[in-house]
Amino acid sequence: MDSLNQITGLGPKTLAKLKKLNIETPHDLLYHFPSRYVDFSNSIKISDTKENENATITGKIISFQNIYTRTHKNIQKAVVQDNSGSITLIWFNQPYLSKNIEIGNTFSFAGVVTLYQNKKTIIAPEYGSFNTGKIIAVYPETSGLTSKWFRKTIQTNLNNLIQASVENLPKKILEKYNLLSLQTALSEIHLPKNKKLLEQARLRIALEEILSLQIQSFLNKKNWLNKLPKEILKTDKTIETKINKFIKSLPFDLTDCQKKVWEEIKKDLLSSKNPTNRLLQGDVGSGKTVIAALGAYLTSLNKHLTLFIAPTEILAQQHYQNFINFFQKFKVPIFLLTSSSKINFKKVPKNSIIIATHAAIFQKEELEKDIGFLIIDEQHKFGVKQRSFLSALTNPPHCLTMTATPIPRTISMTILGNLDLSTIEYLPKNRIPIKTFLVPNNKKNNCYDWLKKEIKNKKTQAFIVCPFIEPSETMETVKSAKKEFENLSRIFSEFKLDLIHGKLKSTEKEKILEKFNKNQTHILVTTPIIEVGIDIPNTTTIIIQSADRFGLAQLHQLRGRVGRGELQSFCYFFTESENEKTISRLKFLSQNLNGLKIAEYDLKTRGPGELHSTLQHGFPSLKLASISDLKLITFSQKILSEIISLNPDLDLKTLFPIHTSYTLAAN
Ligand code: ADP
Ligand code: MG
Repeated sequence: MDSLNQITGLGPKTLAKLKKLNIETPHDLLYHFPSRYVDFSNSIKISDTKENENATITGKIISFQNIYTRTHKNIQKAVVQDNSGSITLIWFNQPYLSKNIEIGNTFSFAGVVTLYQNKKTIIAPEYGSFNTGKIIAVYPETSGLTSKWFRKTIQTNLNNLIQASVENLPKKILEKYNLLSLQTALSEIHLPKNKKLLEQARLRIALEEILSLQIQSFLNKKNWLNKLPKEILKTDKTIETKINKFIKSLPFDLTDCQKKVWEEIKKDLLSSKNPTNRLLQGDVGSGKTVIAALGAYLTSLNKHLTLFIAPTEILAQQHYQNFINFFQKFKVPIFLLTSSSKINFKKVPKNSIIIATHAAIFQKEELEKDIGFLIIDEQHKFGVKQRSFLSALTNPPHCLTMTATPIPRTISMTILGNLDLSTIEYLPKNRIPIKTFLVPNNKKNNCYDWLKKEIKNKKTQAFIVCPFIEPSETMETVKSAKKEFENLSRIFSEFKLDLIHGKLKSTEKEKILEKFNKNQTHILVTTPIIEVGIDIPNTTTIIIQSADRFGLAQLHQLRGRVGRGELQSFCYFFTESENEKTISRLKFLSQNLNGLKIAEYDLKTRGPGELHSTLQHGFPSLKLASISDLKLITFSQKILSEIISLNPDLDLKTLFPIHTSYTLAAN
């Protein structure tokens, strides 16, 4: 079957409804999986039916009534009888049933047996051969197509539908792991013979989903490994000495984790075979910037250009300041490129470091030609789309992406499998763990009173985050931020407050941050724009209003704005929510400071929703597999390596062409 038109009884109206569900081909229909199952395989005599149990019974209809109640409700009531006894059937508002279920005919019915007016009854029973006497697939009812419709259509056409599915796993592997063939699995998913086969079918399809992701990552990696780096970097005694001097000049000692990841990145940068393609993950405040600086210095000593891309203008500004400080004594030209700070490329020496915003850089194609080392500090925004141009280059620069979003192991084993991963596991030792508290609405004022004392006694500062979760700020959110700012200004009338939000001009933002940085303002009221990377160590308190409106990763990021100095820091989550789930999520966050643990908890309890928005375009929609299923993902990885070792020349691309919805961005 190669077109849905070949299915008898499928008119244009139904085709249009299917299209709404993105079902346009027989393959799409076959991969429209049930959301759950009901077990009606228990076919028994009427006298053997038990209250509250599922059953399928078969018998003759001995009465059928259409009843209209005084409240204008419409009930269908039938009695069915077999040689052991009889049972009542009740439907609501289905008068047309009288045409199908005629007195004297024999039918099978399935449902849960209940007691109604003291008689054994099945309410709204299923009937007909597609819906009784077996495990029944239940499909999501959307766009005006019922579960029943899917059940009947798919069951009737199942053999034709699965014929086009070609087995893609070697026989040896199917046998070794006792896996169902693809066709059997697809058949069992829709029309399971028994529970065991259904489980096996679900496993096989889930495996299929994870395998396709891993294969794509594998192919992306292979593609990258065929490329030579844009510029070859080398080291020698002089360069080593200079780098060591640089490390010694830092106001702190590198942690062991930082040393470890620097060695990993350095090794990549010095490889003449392949361009670096590494992801550096490290919790907020773990000290990734200095690692970037080290790589940039190595590149500069090789007389090549480094481009360091920051997600926001504020952050680019901050990195620029940090780099100026880092390289004070080291004669490296450093430039800032933002929409408000332009540079003349012709005057940029080859050994420079340019710090730029995404926005500024992606108009400058000339830059792509000259950079030896590209650092993308996306914090937790991956911007896969923007990066995909890199894998299109024959000779990409060395690439290092930095992220504060902890990558759960299952994610790095699937969708990010093409990237080499370095992790800064621990924060610098001098950090005091942040104390986090959940504050119900009626305790808000106590918290504000506490903060007043804290600022007065310790001369520290605070962030108060207004709860606006829109990805880009609108005038509407700015208006409410302004209102809250006025409110807070009254509460904290003895202090200096400022308001910062995304709609301010960058010069205004800089001014506000500079004042705050110099401790000329005590409290910075802000929308979540401070989430990314701001580093002001004297700020020891952060209050997050309506914390329940944020995702866990974002809250963790926001919390990471404090706890950066020598003093004890505090984080307060305000919430009006009494929802148990919400509270327990916030509680988990207040008791845990480890970003990876939080990310894994989040992935397990809520699914990939939050990571989805984080990884943006790169996230696949899986139907049966779970992206947090470590066991499945490890199993799939094992199978992939066995497939490859069985036949190294196998064209994986043609074997796993299915799931177009899982296509990952090129990089
Ligand atoms: P992130 O990983 O979130 O980008 P940063 O690079 O901004 O973190 O570092 C956070 C703060 O920690 C900065 O003020 C930085 O100077 C400081 N820092 C970095 N490494 C160390 C270290 N080894 N010991 C102490 N402080 C460090
Ligand atoms: Mg950073």
